Amino acid sequence: MSSATVAGHEVSTDHWIGGERVAGSERFEVITPIDGSVIAQVAAGGAHEADLAVAAAHAAAPGWAALGPVGRATLLTRLADLIDQNVERLAAVECADMAMLLESLRLRVIHRAAANFRNYAELAASYEERDWRSKGTWNRVQRMPAGPAAVITPWNAPFMLSTWKVAPALAAGCPVVLKPAEWSPLSCSLLADLTAQAGFPPGVFNVLQGTGEQAGAALVAHPMLRRISFTGSPETAREIGVAAARNLVPFTGELGGKGPLIVFEDADLDAAAAKAAGQYDDAGQVCLAGTRLLVQESVRDEFLERFHAAVDRHVLGDPRAPETTVSPLIHPEHLARVDGFVKRAVAAGDRLVRGGQPAGGLLYEPTLFEPRANDSEIVQREVFGPVLTFQTFADEAEAIALSNSTPYGLSGIVYTSSMGRADRVGRAVRAGVVWVNTFLVRDLTAPFGGIGISGLGREGGNYALDFYSDLKTLQILEGSVR
Ligand code: ADP
Repeated sequence: MSSATVAGHEVSTDHWIGGERVAGSERFEVITPIDGSVIAQVAAGGAHEADLAVAAAHAAAPGWAALGPVGRATLLTRLADLIDQNVERLAAVECADMAMLLESLRLRVIHRAAANFRNYAELAASYEERDWRSKGTWNRVQRMPAGPAAVITPWNAPFMLSTWKVAPALAAGCPVVLKPAEWSPLSCSLLADLTAQAGFPPGVFNVLQGTGEQAGAALVAHPMLRRISFTGSPETAREIGVAAARNLVPFTGELGGKGPLIVFEDADLDAAAAKAAGQYDDAGQVCLAGTRLLVQESVRDEFLERFHAAVDRHVLGDPRAPETTVSPLIHPEHLARVDGFVKRAVAAGDRLVRGGQPAGGLLYEPTLFEPRANDSEIVQREVFGPVLTFQTFADEAEAIALSNSTPYGLSGIVYTSSMGRADRVGRAVRAGVVWVNTFLVRDLTAPFGGIGISGLGREGGNYALDFYSDLKTLQILEGSVR
């Protein structure tokens, strides 16, 4: 058994398979973005461990299904309570793991993870089977648990994002094998401990640690899986899609974005500028971020003045310090990637308005470009760092055209005081979610997912429960049974 002491808390660095810790033979190093030091040597799984994990999930499937939604809800609610009770520990480990702001983790993010379990416990248990008479028959739609599900998660907000998927899968009756990202695998190890404490039967929840190429690829190729849910890059999604197709397994993918943040002249400019500056939070490592600022020409100067003032108030630094608002990037390789985007943009003639440099350790300056043209790489590709672009538009039609001019379609943010415009633009922006005068916190029952290369399938609310279920129609000839 191996463990590491992370931010003063002991965290198992092994896999969690069939209700037991499994060490495996290989290890990989995990660093903390806070100072770049190595904080853990984590088990690096491969085909053997993937096989053990899926077999454990498969063996647990009939028992978990037989519990029914109400029985499962009891355990899921217990898990939600344990997450809430362990906020300090989870937040501290997640902060060391990924450098997300500690205050934000303690006050919001970890509780949101608990809310996912609580919400899905309730939603699955209160499912109303559609029941109707038609053409001399009784009809009923039933949700049958699909079977073992693989959940592959990204390195940003790893704990909370994993619960988006783990909670509906478990609530629907599917045992889970979770493969966390190799740059931030530690907080999900704590989730395994909490499932044990909550009394989950062995094999219902499993954590397979390791790299995407080894553990991830072996997991998604496993023929005993019945569902795959992935969040990450479009490139990896294509590989997972091929593996899923080989076994005819449905999969959903949430694949990042390049969201517009559209500011109309009738908007509350203080609020819009503050929200635009807020896109640098978590160093811009947020798939839903509105990274393309699109501002109506008539308020360009007023907006920029407020925006720069708000960005000037950002404090770059240690994510544990309460005054910090912009934390370090996850990994040196990622910093090099972000800096590569910036250098290429400068070389291509995009105008650097502010920032554009590393700021010590893994920090990176909040950066703004005025692109040379809309087809600039910096406008068209997701950077996943503190880098925004600024463009202006003349009217609604141009705002919509610019919004829809990338291959992505995950999110959009609109600032306007007009209901008509909110409705028109909200409808026209090609994205899975559009926020008007607000951002980020989605009602848990709403669908979530991307259009274009931002993803396929929908999660959230009943949409996720349907994904993790085989929907069955039961039809009985009227008068044939008593
Ligand atoms: P990012 O660019 O954000 O790191 P990736 O798509 O590379 O996104 O990674 C997201 C998740 O997918 C991680 O958990 C990673 O380990 C996993 N992953 C990467 N490659 C594969 C693969 N070929 N098969 C399965 N999972 C993979």
